[in-house]
Amino acid sequence: PINILWLRRDLRLEDNAALYHALKSDYPVLLLFIFDKNILDKCAKDDARVTFIYQTLENIKKELRAKDSDLLVKYGTPEKIWTEILKDYEVKEIYTNHDYEPYARERDDNMAEFLTSEKIAFKTYKDQVIFEKGEILKADKSPYTVFTPFYKQWQAKLDGFYTKSYPTKKYFKNLFKTKNLSFPSLKEMEFEESKLNFPEISYKNKLADYGQERDFPANDGTTHIGLHLRFGTLSIRKAVQDAIKEKSNVWLSELAWREFYMMILWHFPYAAFDSFKKQYDKIKWRNNEAEFKSWCKGNTGYPIVDAGMRQLNETGWMHNRVRMVVASFLSKHLLIDWRWGEAYFAEKLLDYEMASNVGGWQWAAGSGNDAAPYFRVFNPELQTKRFDSKFEYIKKWVPEYGTKKYAQPIVEHTFARERVLKVFKEALNS
Ligand code: FAD
Repeated sequence: PINILWLRRDLRLEDNAALYHALKSDYPVLLLFIFDKNILDKCAKDDARVTFIYQTLENIKKELRAKDSDLLVKYGTPEKIWTEILKDYEVKEIYTNHDYEPYARERDDNMAEFLTSEKIAFKTYKDQVIFEKGEILKADKSPYTVFTPFYKQWQAKLDGFYTKSYPTKKYFKNLFKTKNLSFPSLKEMEFEESKLNFPEISYKNKLADYGQERDFPANDGTTHIGLHLRFGTLSIRKAVQDAIKEKSNVWLSELAWREFYMMILWHFPYAAFDSFKKQYDKIKWRNNEAEFKSWCKGNTGYPIVDAGMRQLNETGWMHNRVRMVVASFLSKHLLIDWRWGEAYFAEKLLDYEMASNVGGWQWAAGSGNDAAPYFRVFNPELQTKRFDSKFEYIKKWVPEYGTKKYAQPIVEHTFARERVLKVFKEALNS
């Protein structure tokens, strides 16, 4: 008999909670990854994240082979694949890490039910956050909906116990000895290999100055680790240890924002699809398709917006300050439903994280947690003056800026501001 460790968004052998517990169990451990058809069928054929996962799995497979074990990789729906696996192996226990997104919760609930009927234990662990679900609650046991008091408690509770790495290496001898396991190619799954460059995990030299540098998009003062936290190629415990070591408090608070939004998604899953503050669902969006297209392509005639969208389209990443500006511009200047923008980001961002993306979009639209009040409308020109005063970022991404070739503004700022205030006021007072 064997036990199985099911990898999902925790693609690493070091400091992995479920892997650690599996390796300490009574049976040898086989590692499995399923390319989930339910998820992949919704992705574009050149989705760069699929390539990233693929390359990461190739590395894990190599590491395991060097230890006389192997990684089993399958393509299909989890139900179908698990039925096959239970035919091929005598499985005692299945280990995996928690995942807080609505689809993942449903998948794991179904899995738990199915495995109970098969008399197989399904053991799940906290791994992708320091504190999850109900670990940080208000005195009356309800979840926080505002970041600052949440963060106060988060920090108060943080100690070495929660940030300690799981020493998986010590137990690698308990890996299941096997070889030549299946690994479908990208082509067999009908995906193309992406040529995008993926950021490396090399953030140490950014942490000391992060607080001063992080808001200026031309400086590249942020760490680009979002992708690695998303797919678990970097452990959150390691990141938090480094934040503390380098005394980078602002960066630590950003890691806590990530957990705040994951906690919100867990307690309020409806807010992944609807406005967190329900009265915002009454807003009469204009939803002009041609304007949406101009926004997507970076042709709005607002240079900071266009620079951001082109950076996103070309690299799969956009600076946080600019994410706020483009999100505000879409939802407020153009009065296009924040869900359209959220969906576009979901398609393009390498570091796409449902909880943070929905959180960021609802913040910008005014409908979310801790959001700016609806009457605060970002002025793209002032944002440029403050954060890209020498137009370095803009010129990098919009080379035709300042020439006749550059687009005329899609809408006039003062007009757009008055229009959105009127529409929001009507919806919120109705
Ligand atoms: P750094 O600034 O170096 O921060 C380190 C890590 O902290 C990030 O990788 C991320 O995991 C976390 N973090 C930082 N800022 C935030 C934040 N405001 N909220 C939540 N976590 C944060 N972040 C995502 O990870 N995925 C998304 O899909 C996403 N969508 C966003 C959409 C909008 C409209 C906005 C305004 C923000 C969004 N963010 C999202 C938050 C933030 O912009 C990115 O995390 C950040 O820009 C990633 O760059 P970095 O890895 O260099 O981050």
